[in-house]
Amino acid sequence: MKFTTFADRLDEIEAESGDLETIQQVAALLAAADAELPVVARFVQGRVFPAWSTSTLDIGPSLCYTAIARAAGPNVSTDDIESQLADRGEIGAVAESYEFGDQQGLAAFGSGGTTGLTITEVDDELRALAATDGAGSQDQKIDRLFGLFRQCSPLEARYLARLVLGEMRIGVGEGAVRDAISEAFDQPPEAVSRALQVTNDYGEVAAVARDEGQAGLDSLDLELGRPVQSMLAQAGTAADALDSWGEAAAEIKFDGARVQIHVEEGEEPDGIGMVSIYSRNMDDVTAALPDIVDFVERTVTDPCIIDGEVVAVDDTGDPLPFQHVLRRFRRKHDIEQMRDEVELRLDAFDCLRVGSQSLLTKTLGERHRHLVNVLGDSDAVADLLLSDNPDELAAFEADALEAGHEGIMLKNPQSTYSPGDRGQNWLKRKPDVETVDLVVTGAEWGEGRRASFLGTFLLSVREPETDSYRTIGKVATGITDEKLAELTDLLEPEIQSESGQTVDIHPSVVFEVGYEEIQPSPTYSSGYALRFPRFITVRTDKSPADAETVERIERLAESQ
Ligand code: AMP
Repeated sequence: MKFTTFADRLDEIEAESGDLETIQQVAALLAAADAELPVVARFVQGRVFPAWSTSTLDIGPSLCYTAIARAAGPNVSTDDIESQLADRGEIGAVAESYEFGDQQGLAAFGSGGTTGLTITEVDDELRALAATDGAGSQDQKIDRLFGLFRQCSPLEARYLARLVLGEMRIGVGEGAVRDAISEAFDQPPEAVSRALQVTNDYGEVAAVARDEGQAGLDSLDLELGRPVQSMLAQAGTAADALDSWGEAAAEIKFDGARVQIHVEEGEEPDGIGMVSIYSRNMDDVTAALPDIVDFVERTVTDPCIIDGEVVAVDDTGDPLPFQHVLRRFRRKHDIEQMRDEVELRLDAFDCLRVGSQSLLTKTLGERHRHLVNVLGDSDAVADLLLSDNPDELAAFEADALEAGHEGIMLKNPQSTYSPGDRGQNWLKRKPDVETVDLVVTGAEWGEGRRASFLGTFLLSVREPETDSYRTIGKVATGITDEKLAELTDLLEPEIQSESGQTVDIHPSVVFEVGYEEIQPSPTYSSGYALRFPRFITVRTDKSPADAETVERIERLAESQ
């Protein structure tokens, strides 16, 4: 498929407002693809690599602007791109506004501006770009991206720019692609959903749906070394749990960072191979956690996938607040030194696979028994209290808080493991103030002695259907000067445009924010505002995809 054909289809899809029509158009696009089907299925939602893959393009806004400016000709600077961005509001429209180098030459030969780029060539080139590393890799990336842009027609440039920045914004969310795969290849939606849950790869699932049908989809399953999304929890109480299930499984809610540990098969004597650790966003964090790797290698007896939390502990083994884990979690430098400073422990609470057997469809109780088996008698297995007695659950919660934990989890003992699902089967119970995770999409420079710091932060929630963000409030309270400096360092590279004191920020950083109440509000585009918002921490373990959605805010507002 020519990239220009693909861009034409995206343009039509973007112009379509009806959900069903959008799904049909995406289905037609998938059905029209040949060997490049996996690439089409990923590109259409702004992805080059499947969500589980550790490969990334690592192209920030400024690198992309440099490549566009260079392709646009000697009279265009990155400053021009940024000021255009302030006017036009998004990078696709900016990229589209230029005639790129090779286009003028081609048009002169009467080719009418069509280019020869195929979607596969774009994919190959972006993968080659992603693979560059070491000294000079930034320049190589700019060269390669420039090489692509200069072959693009304006419409192709619109979608290339959005693709490389991961912001396709054509109103096609994950649900639409899932439904389009089902429709294009006439497969049951549940079979497609399940296959996506276990692979996290829309490209692979589309190709299997087309080439192997339902039997192929059903045969896709968990694989060691390919992380899946973590099962998530809703807020709830012991009374909710007992009302719904009669009996609840209670565990401590550990205040750490979620990990999914994959232990591969290896040589005798112990039969254990490589250990990989993934964050809840499926990033590979193995290198930062050598002590947890050592522990797993010493303890685990079978190839398996374990779900749990790593928690920082003090000298006596008592849990320390979440901020301490973050000093270790994504660290790339001084790992050994930090290992001495911050001690971590693993608290494991689930087992998704053991040997070659997937446990996703087993009940919590059965999975827990497997967990105990693979971790032997180590104390890393979280205690699980099975009870139908509200007093017993209340006492369990009181003990957990007394011991310094942030609350408890209540789980349906009969439930299966549903990756990525924030459903009714796991409830979290925290007595503290309510908090929400929000994406920073703007800020204001401070005044006086704070003039060189970003001060007030504009916060947004996600609108998954249209893959966009809606504002919900501003936060300026709860932030020390030292923290402001840190936040400025973190957010300044993400600034997309500035006007006076106000800056637009590329959605990439997630703040945990405390609040007293959610109120309807005409001021913000979500339709809601937070009463007394207070900055708690940067959730470096979360990406904008994990932030609250408009729908969740509506539900929280209703349940107050
Ligand atoms: P929150 O981050 O506030 O949405 O709470 C959900 C998170 O609590 C999960 O994603 C886990 O990282 C964490 N967690 C802590 N203890 C447990 C547990 N026993 N079971 C499941 N999740 C837990």
